[in-house]
Amino acid sequence: MLNKNVSKLLNEQINKEMFSAYLYLDMAHYYINKGLEGFANWFKVQAKEEMDHATLFIEYLQNNGVEVELDAIAKPTMLYKDDRVLLVEALKHEEFVTASINTIYEEALKAHEFKTQEFLHWFIKEQVEEEKNATDLISAFDLHYPHGVFALDGKLQARVYQAPSLKLN
Ligand code: MG
Repeated sequence: MLNKNVSKLLNEQINKEMFSAYLYLDMAHYYINKGLEGFANWFKVQAKEEMDHATLFIEYLQNNGVEVELDAIAKPTMLYKDDRVLLVEALKHEEFVTASINTIYEEALKAHEFKTQEFLHWFIKEQVEEEKNATDLISAFDLHYPHGVFALDGKLQARVYQAPSLKLN
């Protein structure tokens, strides 16, 4: 069994990861409409990773005998003023997810729930990478703007999806 409060937070995290996938798909669609297929690809890969994250939280709860409750996924309502604002919003969103995972970790510490702490270590490391990727994308955009944006778009086309390194089953 898992601590009740920790279980509740882990269950809520499923929704946050699924919302992240929705948000990144929405961002991908923004770029598709602009004809920037490489940026769109980058966000589509990102969305797949978020669905993997959600699945990992689901599996962890199920492996520990906790009934998973799937909540409604909110509609992404962000308005992207321009190509760069969107990238900054993506970074801010990852910072929000990092804070959320840190909160669960804090609760797991308080509850002396060592297995959840161990499970979350992968996500804590993953968030370092997520924030770095989002920051690097902003830097790349700034370096290429305005005349190199199309060249950067070509580079972003090369991003390929990789399954997460964490396996629970
Ligand atoms: Mg995530």
